Amino acid sequence: MKLSAFATLFAAVGAANASGLNHHHGVLKRQASTTDSSSASSSAASSSSGGASSTASSGSSASVTAPASTGTASSNVEGVPPLKEITFGMPSGTAWEASTTVASGVVPTISGIPDAPAIPGFVFKSGAWPKQDKAPPTDSEEVKAWMKELDGFDIPDLEPTTDGYCASDPEFAADAENRGWWTCGGWTRDTDIVACNDKLTWGVSFDDGPGPYTPKLLKYLDEKDISATFFVVGSRVIERPAILVQEYMSGHEIAVHTWSHTHLTQQTTEQIVAELGWTRKAIKEVLGVTPTTMRPPYGDIDDRVRAISLAMGLVPMIWTRTPSATFDTNDWAVAAGNVDGESCVETFNNILGNATELDTGMIVLAHDLYEITVDLNMGYNLEAAQKHDPPFTLKAIGQCMDIPATDMYRETNTNKTFPSNKVAIDVSGDGTSDAETVASAGNGAAAMTLSTSFATLAGLAAVFATFF
Ligand SMILES: [Zn+2]
Repeated sequence: MKLSAFATLFAAVGAANASGLNHHHGVLKRQASTTDSSSASSSAASSSSGGASSTASSGSSASVTAPASTGTASSNVEGVPPLKEITFGMPSGTAWEASTTVASGVVPTISGIPDAPAIPGFVFKSGAWPKQDKAPPTDSEEVKAWMKELDGFDIPDLEPTTDGYCASDPEFAADAENRGWWTCGGWTRDTDIVACNDKLTWGVSFDDGPGPYTPKLLKYLDEKDISATFFVVGSRVIERPAILVQEYMSGHEIAVHTWSHTHLTQQTTEQIVAELGWTRKAIKEVLGVTPTTMRPPYGDIDDRVRAISLAMGLVPMIWTRTPSATFDTNDWAVAAGNVDGESCVETFNNILGNATELDTGMIVLAHDLYEITVDLNMGYNLEAAQKHDPPFTLKAIGQCMDIPATDMYRETNTNKTFPSNKVAIDVSGDGTSDAETVASAGNGAAAMTLSTSFATLAGLAAVFATFF
């Protein structure tokens, strides 16, 4: 497929939308072609009980390179079945526990974060949290307090979508460029993190946990000395706090992935604030730190979701798209019973081929919620990237973007303008600011210093012009 117009599209400056968001977000970029506008990369499941979600939809993972061999179809990694056996309904192993229990008051030793706060020692209190995997109510005192964080930000007055997919909203789909709607056509803003800085670098991430098999993955990552970014679901954080502590103490980055794993463009502003706010609070209460980054479930973000996230101190991180390929492993689709394990590994081999054509590195969608997705990623995909010729360098996303480790959390952040120069982030939701940053430089100057990191993305346009 040849998309000669893509370089122009990619570099096009989006018109300022009616609500004036463009001074927050600057250049509108397009990550993918118009041809895949009705497809969406989905992510795994809304349930942590082991069954796959019925809401997962088929993702777009078209390739521009010939499929590579899936190899010998068995893994060298201990505890990972042969590829043919990794299918929906496979017998699952025993759930893993966190490797250690960390007592409250322990000060974590984390590379790059010399002054990390002590681990608080989380104790679950019934009634203190919204229901598991359910949208939190919006009339709580916490949500009312978090809504005040939006004061002074221009939150675009975009009507919520029907279900996050452009097929259901033809009118919104026609305006997807102005809405900056990623799920509907791949539109991004320069505040979105969508690729790593350096070629042949993979910003490794896992979504939807902490899950019962996450420690199996953590053991592998530790043995291979690989750091990753974990986009965690708030209600699962309070369900498995010890696993989150293990992720963090092992040097992995922790980021927000909502409370109930919902399509954010579908939600009202209060609902989005509740989804992000409760997850932020759960992570803070377990780790003592508040992430400065988030990933919208299904990648479903538009300018309203972006503005709310940035106002709440959370920079969006999505995954890489090219005009013909979404860098989605489709591991979630194996867990959902839509495709088999061999298909997932073949998809990932195509992703590696596509990535060699980029001037930048890549960010790939993968999951740690199910044993199937853990086995596919640690047994096959991570191995393939390391053994690829030329090999990929595997890093957490913050690392691959050269963001100092301290800046990944509000409490340790030394960058006064990342992710926002606004004051008064109220993680606890008690109506007072928990972590003062710097004096406000006025409305509309939020979150822009990071954009210098995106200079390399402009190079993508040139690459796309040559390889299609
Ligand atoms: Zn997800």
